[in-house]
Amino acid sequence: MASVTYDHVYKRFGDVVAVNDLNVHIEDKEFLVFVGPSGCGKTTSLRLLAGLEEISEGNIMIGDRIVNDVPPKDRDIAMVFQSYALYPHMSVYDNMAFGLKLRKTPKSEIDRRVKEAAEILDIGHLLDRKPKQLSGGQRQRVAVGRAIVREPAVFLFDEPLSNLDAKLRVQTRAQLTRLHQRLATTFIYVTHDQVEAMTMASRIAVMKDGILQQIDTPQHLYDHPHNVFVAGFIGSPSMNFFDATLVETDGKLEVNTGGFRVEVPEEKAKEWRQFKGREVIFGIRPEDIHAKPFVPPGILESDIRATVDVTELMGNEIFLYMVTKDNKQFIARVDPRVQAHPGEELEMAINMSNAHIFDPKTEVSLA
Ligand code: ATP
Repeated sequence: MASVTYDHVYKRFGDVVAVNDLNVHIEDKEFLVFVGPSGCGKTTSLRLLAGLEEISEGNIMIGDRIVNDVPPKDRDIAMVFQSYALYPHMSVYDNMAFGLKLRKTPKSEIDRRVKEAAEILDIGHLLDRKPKQLSGGQRQRVAVGRAIVREPAVFLFDEPLSNLDAKLRVQTRAQLTRLHQRLATTFIYVTHDQVEAMTMASRIAVMKDGILQQIDTPQHLYDHPHNVFVAGFIGSPSMNFFDATLVETDGKLEVNTGGFRVEVPEEKAKEWRQFKGREVIFGIRPEDIHAKPFVPPGILESDIRATVDVTELMGNEIFLYMVTKDNKQFIARVDPRVQAHPGEELEMAINMSNAHIFDPKTEVSLA
């Protein structure tokens, strides 16, 4: 059993509460990603599990064993660091074999494991090289190989892709997903990059200021963010937010931002009507804002006008940086056929089926 449980875990560094009452149960064979901005406590959460930091309060369990006082080497985990931490004077083979040699694993067993890991990672031809004779991507694979040979119950990854260039990061993401499938072991991964989290995780734990904000599958997190922070953090470009009021005119519920009014379709209004008259934060993702006439069918007519500030052509879509008449900025991801020039006014439509409202005080999702 390689499930992992954080049970009311705290980590304090003097006055700083790096991890604040963390409760997470990670299933055996899950690929869980901790994600959040710099300083949110994700690395500390991982280091507590690895035994590299001492817990201030609470329990961490691997399987059904509390590991708070178990030395790192006896936790049956292996960690891949951002820096890779390879020994420069050793060959790739010896780097991978090193931990096993320390544990006095028989030579033939070491050889079998190193060769098997090298085969999985396609680095068999590099075993005699020294780290400085490798590319960044190859070094990264050696670091992963060193973890694989340990055959741990849980793999920990601390931003292992951040030293790679953009293209290699994308390739390596897919390799790690494949590796997870092949090894069928628990992976716990830390990153500040929400794209990495979205593409690899079976579940994502979003953290901010040491506090877990939400833990969910990537799709559910995207569609049902618990609060403004999660809504803004997951998705690129970020969700647009407007201070708004929910008003009812002639039996029709509308969102009024000051800069525009947009009708709420009846199926959504059923849920939202209870907040009538209230101030809300209105959230809408860039891909749910369309420029006329390229509006998908089924979206209610609305008369939103905004001025183009900047256009970014992405090939299969255009990012439009827009300004409303009351000077609020927002981003729309629109059809590439849209002709838009800075300074021009466009008519837009919003897919309200995917809209969100949040409480302005608590910033928690209302619906
Ligand atoms: P990053 O992505 O920048 O690594 P993070 O989300 O991983 O950030 P942590 O490294 O876990 O965040 O840090 C959480 C908080 O704890 C930060 O405020 C950090 O300054 C503080 N912290 C971390 N390690 C220590 C330490 N050894 N001593 C004092 N404060 C620390």
